[in-house]
Amino acid sequence: MKHQGYDVVVIGGGHAGADAAHAAARTGAKTALVTMRESDIGVMSCNPAIGGLGKGHLVREIDALDGVMGRVADRAGIQFRLLNRRKGPAVQGPRAQADRALYRTHMLAEIKSQPNLDIVLGEVVDLEMQSARVTGVSLADGSVVAAKAVVLTTGTFLRGVIHIGDERRSGGRMGDRASERLASRIDDLGLPLGRLKTGTPPRLDGRTIDWTRLESQPGDDDPVLFSFLSDSPRARQVACGITHTNARTHEIITENLHRSAMYGGHINGVGPRYCPSIEDKVVRFAEKESHQIFLEPEGLDTHIIYPNGISTSLPVDVQAEYVRTIVGLEAVEIEQPGYAIEYDYVDPRALDLRLAVGACDGLFLAGQINGTTGYEEAAAQGLVAGLNAAASAMGRDPVTFSRADSYIGVMVDDLTTRGVSEPYRMFTSRAEFRLSLRADNADQRLTPKGIEVGCVGAERRETFGRKMESLNAARDVLEALSLTPKDLKALGIEVNADGTRRTGSQVLAFADVDVAQLEPAAPALQNLAPRIRQQLKYDAIYANYIERQREDVAVLRREEATAIPTGFDFSALDGLSNELKTKLDAARPNNLAQAGRIDGMTPAALTLILSRLRHDA
Ligand code: FAD
Repeated sequence: MKHQGYDVVVIGGGHAGADAAHAAARTGAKTALVTMRESDIGVMSCNPAIGGLGKGHLVREIDALDGVMGRVADRAGIQFRLLNRRKGPAVQGPRAQADRALYRTHMLAEIKSQPNLDIVLGEVVDLEMQSARVTGVSLADGSVVAAKAVVLTTGTFLRGVIHIGDERRSGGRMGDRASERLASRIDDLGLPLGRLKTGTPPRLDGRTIDWTRLESQPGDDDPVLFSFLSDSPRARQVACGITHTNARTHEIITENLHRSAMYGGHINGVGPRYCPSIEDKVVRFAEKESHQIFLEPEGLDTHIIYPNGISTSLPVDVQAEYVRTIVGLEAVEIEQPGYAIEYDYVDPRALDLRLAVGACDGLFLAGQINGTTGYEEAAAQGLVAGLNAAASAMGRDPVTFSRADSYIGVMVDDLTTRGVSEPYRMFTSRAEFRLSLRADNADQRLTPKGIEVGCVGAERRETFGRKMESLNAARDVLEALSLTPKDLKALGIEVNADGTRRTGSQVLAFADVDVAQLEPAAPALQNLAPRIRQQLKYDAIYANYIERQREDVAVLRREEATAIPTGFDFSALDGLSNELKTKLDAARPNNLAQAGRIDGMTPAALTLILSRLRHDA
């Protein structure tokens, strides 16, 4: 069969693939999304949730650039919670639990309704090449799809091996074939490959859970959604259950550790430290008597429950035994066993800031194949690769992101300069500019860039334009205010009678002041929408800190050459995570610049090291 030619072909309809294909098509590139089955589009391989700390920021940024993940999650969300609600807005993370089926339905609808975007069903078995340039892909049925640029987003499918206890079989995830032939082609390209692993918990039959014995966790009363275009949840909202492992659970796991794929020596790949299996938790945190488990419904029309916190690769009989020691799960039936998967990834240092492969013109990689873990990290890379594949195919300028403008920029820079030693996951601590890279201002940071590169549609452009008009007018009003302590007292705001005049923005930065209190002094503020009021408040709170943040970052850059003496005791640094202590001890960097290049290093940790060096000097 002959397919038509495309500007961009995206291989894989997972999270990276969906946002890559949609982004390329939005900029006008004629795009094909090649995936094995239509039902693969938008599949959540592991937990039925989007967002969280750091990850929620990525989703907001994808949305600010008119990507799909945020609005699909809003439509499929059955419970919304803003994590870190009691902390400052810079580290708050929106999270939604999603109905798996709804997520897939809405993702497929987004892909199908996007102009310039076709779905082609088939397994890609090879890349078509002309000398060092990719010219398309060939499918298992012998057909060829020609393209000027190709984005590879095959997730855990490259030479994937599924492990349950000592049982092992080839597979991309449960129920799916691995991509073996494509993996051989990647070998031929000479790309540096590594092996990683990840795991998932058993899925439970909710009808066999005794919910009456469990604590219930509802969503937030005032749900915070992902998309700047969404108002309120569409789907019915549900609560989760909470339970805990106990001494008996840990005993069974410990007795059977030798039968676990992770611990029995069957898996060579490195696993995600941040998403440990229950075996990992029991061994690494042996002093803890119990671990929390969230029992999350996988959807509104299914009885399947996802027990968040007990991913495992123990044999099925052991899974059943330990799960039934847990309160509420005494009679639970397992619908699908937990398992671990080991797969190939490409060392992302082989890529540039466009996520393009240096050794092969026109080839881009995004998602788990680059050594990351998580739907959000995958989708954000998909967006970058999709935009750049389209730019390359259409002869336009590259679209790159910086550490100062986005978490997307932080992630791509981390991956392409430091590489990964374990599956990479986003955290707010990875960003040196985290006070300015907030989830609430992702649109102000990125929508103008999206408009410039042509990936933002009319609805968002207009909504954003109206918001900025209102926000800028209100900022002008606040800046024009000049309030004495006496004026403030009249407004019910107490300050020292120091005679200082303050602008409205300065007053708004005070802890307990909100826009409503300033209205008598500036009636123009009266009709502002709640979202604008909140934005003004956040911007005012952070204005002072952002200047200090800039100075801190400048100091770190200036001090990069500062030597770290041999024998420097990293373990004596309070506030440094155990993970970083171990990595620093192993790497023994000679100076701050070298320390900064260690995978997982954070700006806060570098500042800690610098202040100890200064103290010791
Ligand atoms: P995927 O979502 O895997 O999508 C890959 C797509 O490529 C699929 O649609 C597949 O059909 C398609 N494809 C593959 N090969 C071909 C081919 N040759 N031709 C055509 N199409 C092809 N993340 C976490 O954050 N926490 C966890 O605890 C966690 N646990 C996980 C456990 C398991 C068992 C698995 C499988 C994944 C887990 N993940 C976890 C990872 C999460 O699922 C991924 O990070 C995310 O799905 C990656 O998105 P992606 O788009 O890169 O790949």
